[in-house]
Amino acid sequence: MKKSRPNEAMVIGAGLAGSEAAWQLAQRGWVVHLYEMRPDVMTPAHVTGQFAELVCSNSLGSIQGTAPAALLKDEMRLFDSLILQAGQAAQVPAGSALAVDREVFSQRVTERLQGHPRIVIHHEVVTDIPSQPCLIATGPLTHEALSGAIQETLGDSMLSFFDAAAPIVLTDTVDMEHAFWGSREGSEDYLNCPLTKAEYEVFYDALIHAEQHLGHDFESSTFFEGCLPIEELARRGPKTPLYGPMKPIGLENPFEGGRRPYAIVQLRQDNAVGSLMSLVGFQTNLRWGEQKRVFGLIPALANAEFVRYGVMHRNTYLKSPALLRPTLNTKRREDLWFAGQMTGVEGYVESAAMGIVAAVGMSAYLEGREMPVFPRETMMGALAYYITHTDPAHFQPMNANFGLFELPPEVQGLRDKKARRQWLRNRAMARMEEFVRQLEPVHE
Ligand SMILES: Cc1cc2nc3c(=O)[nH]c(=O)nc-3n(C[C@H](O)[C@H](O)[C@H](O)COP(=O)(O)OP(=O)(O)OC[C@H]3O[C@@H](n4cnc5c(N)ncnc54)[C@H](O)[C@@H]3O)c2cc1C
Repeated sequence: MKKSRPNEAMVIGAGLAGSEAAWQLAQRGWVVHLYEMRPDVMTPAHVTGQFAELVCSNSLGSIQGTAPAALLKDEMRLFDSLILQAGQAAQVPAGSALAVDREVFSQRVTERLQGHPRIVIHHEVVTDIPSQPCLIATGPLTHEALSGAIQETLGDSMLSFFDAAAPIVLTDTVDMEHAFWGSREGSEDYLNCPLTKAEYEVFYDALIHAEQHLGHDFESSTFFEGCLPIEELARRGPKTPLYGPMKPIGLENPFEGGRRPYAIVQLRQDNAVGSLMSLVGFQTNLRWGEQKRVFGLIPALANAEFVRYGVMHRNTYLKSPALLRPTLNTKRREDLWFAGQMTGVEGYVESAAMGIVAAVGMSAYLEGREMPVFPRETMMGALAYYITHTDPAHFQPMNANFGLFELPPEVQGLRDKKARRQWLRNRAMARMEEFVRQLEPVHE
């Protein structure tokens, strides 16, 4: 591998995050050495040698008004995002979503990077962490030699290889007429969602018959016994969940005069401000639409807004809250950045957004300036803050969502969800515009 000189930057992985980061660095005047192992060495999910290949869906998420994904994209446009430029060029009709022709999209990204006068492309597998300043964006399917090197450098327990996550809902969308605070130990730590016998039977039937995400060939169909998907557990028998995550023992239902409910679903706080709650023990492999339908049969969740659906798939990601600063460089080595899905965000656009955050930090570092921290009032800043500050013991990847923001008192008073979001959106855009103005000018 080439040694970089002072005006040079190194980026490993030309996926969504690495392509965006390479572009941002090159636009800031750095000569970028971009390393990508495909097409010589493929991952189990990619099928082409193009950069920024979309491995599954062809949607880059909502572009509608106050949707969190729309805000994220609008912020990224302020950085002249390559991924969004390519998205625009490859757009196909998809209502309120930005869906793309995947071939045109990846080709566009590849051509822009190949044609950039300051980007040098190396088709090579990187097997070690380079000793010079470098940005690693090798994604959920990072080559095993490099993930071994990362483990060696950062510690064995610092890298996860499998994502088994339960859905997360916005706390203020849980129906409190059907939920109560409490725990089996007597504290008020959990939000409990009771079901009667009749409600449980309807839920159980829907759960075992719901459509599953079929997964990819490389995804194992066998699960760790201690981490079974809820639907798999339920298939073992109608009472099995009642002795597992839906166990009602030790809880009294205040809506039924303190009687023990037939079944319970517990929600646990997922962020420090308490705006997000995850369904305890509900890791699942159901299709996303099915999760909304089936979990919506739990009375307290009938109108809940899911900000992240449950997933069970192979995913290499760091224990970022223990390892990374909000500028996405490591606490241990200042000149080593990570970006993309491996930092613990989930989604194409979120991954690319973290490419921008890391590249802006790296560029400042290479110039000898202080690395700017993205404002927490912006979606990009809130995501970077979440992945670097949440509880490392329960850390699981996260999408862009409004639950990441702390709500100031003037917004807490707004009952209308749309008005609240509009306020947060306006504030985010204003803060990001100001932040971009304060950054050093981008070279063309
Ligand atoms: C099977 C699967 C399906 C997914 N489906 C969706 C979806 O439908 N929608 C969605 O929003 N998100 C989806 N995701 C999640 C995620 O958004 C994408 O994986 C996204 O591509 C992540 O971007 P990235 O840049 O972090 O990684 P990637 O886009 O995977 O890019 C990483 C790049 O690094 C290269 N690389 C890896 N190791 C090395 C090495 N050692 N040396 C050199 N190059 C290397 C890879 O070849 C790859 O090009 C999916 C993830 C997986 C695993």
